[in-house]
Amino acid sequence: MAGITIDNVTKRFGAEDNAVVAVDDVSLDIDDGEFVVFVGPSGSGKSTLLRMVAGLEQQSEGDVVIGDTVVNELGPRARDIAMVFQNYALYPNMTVEENMSFGLKMSTDMDDDEIARTVTDTAEMMGIGNLLDDTPGELSGGQQQRVALGRSIVRDPNVFLMDEPLSNLDAKLRTEMRTEINRLQQDLGVTTLYVTHDQTEAMTMGDRLVVLNYGELQQVGTPLECFYRPANRFVAGFLGSPS
Ligand code: ADP
Ligand code: MG
Repeated sequence: MAGITIDNVTKRFGAEDNAVVAVDDVSLDIDDGEFVVFVGPSGSGKSTLLRMVAGLEQQSEGDVVIGDTVVNELGPRARDIAMVFQNYALYPNMTVEENMSFGLKMSTDMDDDEIARTVTDTAEMMGIGNLLDDTPGELSGGQQQRVALGRSIVRDPNVFLMDEPLSNLDAKLRTEMRTEINRLQQDLGVTTLYVTHDQTEAMTMGDRLVVLNYGELQQVGTPLECFYRPANRFVAGFLGSPS
């Protein structure tokens, strides 16, 4: 398990003289086991920030620290993180069990029995233990989402990153999966960074909320603090705070 420090991190895209500043000098300490929700309008730098923590994007300035390790130079694999995106791509020709085993086969030295046991345990925990022999095409959207989550956590990562994982689901399923993700995170105690532009997710899911606009940190606090004591007019407007 690991806390995360984002230390004066900036990301610029494009040439020096007309660069887009996607993330602008953001600093943030995240506790081990904490669930932090990043919220802000489209283009505010949420995905870029998450991708820098994941090692999928290299920051222009600043440090990312996971646990005791400055991970600036480390690729995604070495960071021991799991990531779930909006467009979770399951392998269509593999069964659920194969989808969930694949990463373990590639990245651990577990033997086949151990892998099978780990996958079964995780699938049971996710309520998809009866679907192991099915292929993704045979599953509902919600079941596919559970497989995607199960596949990402089966490696028992230190850090769990989610970028709008529920935005393709209908309202009923979103409500169900919100609860499910919170339960899972608490069971695993895994440090979680969760990106959304959904008000309800922002207000209900995390220990703390991080509000971004134009790549700049606007406020960090509990959802209630941000809602009732917004740091500025932008936060108040975005969260719909009472005036
Ligand atoms: P969000 O996830 O909050 O919608 P993003 O992190 O995707 O925001 O984008 C932040 C800003 O960085 C936007 O202005 C976007 O156009 C820009 N951006 C993101 N990725 C790239 C890229 N690969 N190349 C150039 N500009 C990018
Ligand atoms: Mg995004």
